[in-house]
This record gives sequence, C-alpha cells and structure tokens, in this order.
Amino acid sequence: MLSDQLLDVTTWAPLIDAFPKPGTDDATGIFLLRRALEFILRHELAHVALNHEPRQVAEGLTTIECEREADLKAASWLRGSLQADSERSLEARLAGRELSLEQRAVSIGLGLGCVI
Ligand SMILES: [Zn+2]
Repeated sequence: MLSDQLLDVTTWAPLIDAFPKPGTDDATGIFLLRRALEFILRHELAHVALNHEPRQVAEGLTTIECEREADLKAASWLRGSLQADSERSLEARLAGRELSLEQRAVSIGLGLGCVI
C-alpha cells in the first residue's frame, strides 16, 4: 500500500553519505546542508542571547521583530570576519576567504528558508 511505503522512509529514501568524495556534488550538498544547519542553530541561540522572551513582554517586541533580529545575529555569527573583496573584478573566480563567504551566504539563504 502506498501510504505504508511513504511512512517507511527507510525502504525508499536514499541513504545520505555523510562523507562523500571531495569535489563531488554530494560533497557540495553535504557542505551546504551542514552550514544551513549551523545557521538554524545560531538563529535559535540568538533568541536566547538577545533575551527575546523577556524583551517581548518588557519592550513590546513583535515576533517578526524578534525573528529578524535572530536572523541578523545568526548571519553575523556565521559570517564572522569574512568580507567581500571590493578590488576583485567581476569576472574573477572567487577563492579563499571570499569563496567561504559566498558559500556561507548560500547556506544562510537555505537556513532562512527553514526558519521562516
Ligand atoms: Zn526564530
């Protein structure tokens, strides 16, 4: 029966290789997934660090305001000190710290899609 198959994900869902060959699409996917999860964790920790629960009562912050603050704090934590190279030409390939910044930006976008 179809509903039984849908409930038993162990029989049809592909197994996730947590340690794929470097340079493969699977490795990129795992990297982005891990970073997205890091963003989500940071978002939740930001709610605590920013004292949202007491501030919502004391300051009348809305839930949306709290979510935006948590998003910004999580993105800031994940970005760290990485910055875009304003001297790099538009055609040049990203590398090093700037590539890491770009990967984190993509992951933040993926993570945002999960916490909204
Ligand atoms: Zn939140």
